[in-house]
Amino acid sequence: MIEPRVLVLEDDQELRRLLHRGLTEEGFDVVASGSAADLLARVASVEPDALIVDIGLPDADGRDVVQALRAQGVSAPVIFLTARDALPDRLAGFAAGGDDYLTKPFAFAELVARLWALIRRGGADYVTQAGSLRLDPATHAATCGDAAVDLTPTEFRVLARLAAQPGETVRRRALVQAGWPHGAIVHDNTLDVYVAALRRKLRDLPEAPEIVTAHGVGYSLR
Ligand code: CA
Repeated sequence: MIEPRVLVLEDDQELRRLLHRGLTEEGFDVVASGSAADLLARVASVEPDALIVDIGLPDADGRDVVQALRAQGVSAPVIFLTARDALPDRLAGFAAGGDDYLTKPFAFAELVARLWALIRRGGADYVTQAGSLRLDPATHAATCGDAAVDLTPTEFRVLARLAAQPGETVRRRALVQAGWPHGAIVHDNTLDVYVAALRRKLRDLPEAPEIVTAHGVGYSLR
């Protein structure tokens, strides 16, 4: 599955870490910067699909940073984070080429929903397709024709990993890496429990492929 790349510019280290971890778990490829200077130095090599930019930075105003990025030809949509809830600030944010804003403190789920909305508005399609099975990362839904089932984020990531190589056995280790955060302790039978749940859900999609066990090795989608 191709992951949309999100560039985060946030000087608050705790929030930056939280965004990095949370967005990675949501399936984004995250590059995080703590200063405008660092971001401007790196942005050309990063080619982001979207940006999350804090307005209040120690070395610049986030709106000016976005203007500079636009001048460099970066056209990816931007979500501004602002501690200020004043309307003039919001308008200035949009004038600087921003596409959306969130006022701190914000709900993480709200940020993820807005991020997907902006990325999709840009016409990018991150849906994974394996045969008739479609996996939508924005909604964590699996669909087949007119039938749809909702998956948990972990179920979604495991199934998307299988769907990335349909017909091929994907090793258990690769599935655990795809499904759980880096460093998470995942017991051997936990993966099997998730696969069992996925099989039950896939049964509600009449035309969907099946998850086949390769004993001791992994699973495949066929
Ligand atoms: Ca700040």
